[in-house]
Amino acid sequence: MAEFAEVTVFDTTLRDGEQAAGSRLGAAEKLEIARQLARLGVGVIEAGFPCSSPQDFEAVRLIAREVKEVVVCGLSRAVAADIDICGEALAGATRRRIHTGLGVSDIHIAGKFRDPKYGATLADKRQRTLVMAVDAVTRARRYTDDVEFYAEDAGRADRGYLFAVIEAVIAAGATVVNIPDTTGYTVPAQYGALIAAIAGQVPNIHRAVISVHCHDDLGMAVANTLAGVAAGARQVEGTINGIGERAGNAALEEVVMALRTRRDFFGVDTSVDSRELHRTSRLVADRLGMVLPANKAVVGDHAFAHSSGIHVDGFLKDRTTYEIMRPEDIGFPEQGKVVLTARTGRHGVRHRLAELGYAFADEELEQVYRRFLAVADKKREVFDEDLAAIVNDELRPTPEFFQLVALKSATETGTTPTVTVRLRRGGEEHQETGRGDGPVDAAYKALAAAAGRNPHLERYEIQAVTGGTEAMGRVTVRMREHGTTVLGRGASTDIIEASAKAYVDGLNRLVAFGEERG
Ligand code: MN
Repeated sequence: MAEFAEVTVFDTTLRDGEQAAGSRLGAAEKLEIARQLARLGVGVIEAGFPCSSPQDFEAVRLIAREVKEVVVCGLSRAVAADIDICGEALAGATRRRIHTGLGVSDIHIAGKFRDPKYGATLADKRQRTLVMAVDAVTRARRYTDDVEFYAEDAGRADRGYLFAVIEAVIAAGATVVNIPDTTGYTVPAQYGALIAAIAGQVPNIHRAVISVHCHDDLGMAVANTLAGVAAGARQVEGTINGIGERAGNAALEEVVMALRTRRDFFGVDTSVDSRELHRTSRLVADRLGMVLPANKAVVGDHAFAHSSGIHVDGFLKDRTTYEIMRPEDIGFPEQGKVVLTARTGRHGVRHRLAELGYAFADEELEQVYRRFLAVADKKREVFDEDLAAIVNDELRPTPEFFQLVALKSATETGTTPTVTVRLRRGGEEHQETGRGDGPVDAAYKALAAAAGRNPHLERYEIQAVTGGTEAMGRVTVRMREHGTTVLGRGASTDIIEASAKAYVDGLNRLVAFGEERG
């Protein structure tokens, strides 16, 4: 194995990914994702941009303190005060990295440093930008010897100038130089040539690792990333499911599986345990309330479904005929396999949960087990997907200010649906009845009245977790109140109940964010 060089996987799901998501993640959810990323085996987690908000600072500090197996990185602009805040947020990490930098294309320099204080001419502004880059790296080195410099919009920068900046920041102590294609403008041959030129022409480049950071505006983020690796880059940056600004970042699951499947071509290894990719992908999608396209490469539900007759026939005779990766390599659960029934004891449930990668304290297990029994009672066969839904639904990090105590729904063809709810609000219970266009609408009217709040419902989505009419339904709602958007989730074999739970979960998140904001 040692014959191949290692490419470091740098995950920025919690920074470049989350900053563009439609809703915010709380610190506990970020920590949960960071822990899964550590289990996935990424080398670096970019946990946030500490200077951007107190919430981001807190999330980076928490992850730095709690996640010890990886390098924890914070982003910072090339501004002394930002770098200091970033250094402070990372202080608790065993291994910490500061990622700082600025725009190096003339478009960025002329646009962002328009003020005459940065110089009268473009040449003056370029000179000033180079000094700021060196100062930023020098300052970051006060906090750690692992400093990454990003040359924003490198894809459109003047080469001679870009090389001069890279040489200067390496001399100042940068250990990784990130060459982002910030606008997703380059094409693979061109981006690969840029990386090869940096590797070949920057005199002190051997003292640093070249990192690639690509965006998907033209659908080439993964292809550009791989071209960068082929040209000598030894760190890849990306996000799970390719989430991120605009069209997103390079999808790490695709980059990792391309490097692994085509190890013969790239001749590199990564530290990632690919069997954790499916779980990581689902966790991120779930926490951000996104639905993955079924045909998404590597992690989509149909990524391994063969349906054309010729393919199926060939596949059954020898799976390698049409399969370049195996679903188990990505950690796909075996679909539709009955794993548990109401007769499965605590021990069996704990064992299956452990196989799925969930470890619990006894008290949490008891909570999950009680819920499992209720579900097993209703639907007899409990699949892995059901278990995951139970766990996600039962063990939520949100403090429960609101609690759904009871729900009664009456629907009859030709009459207006009526739903009565009992909701615990702080210490007391409130009962309200709602009427609506449908039972979910009626339930939401009753809940809003009982909660004494009226958030705007932006989106409602329901998915069946497993097949059959007795399937668990999982509901995700997007709610907005006073400028804060949250996601609420709930699961149940009864879709009205799942809908109500999702709404109450959303209310609790709004309360939690309201408190954070103070
Ligand atoms: Mn980016």
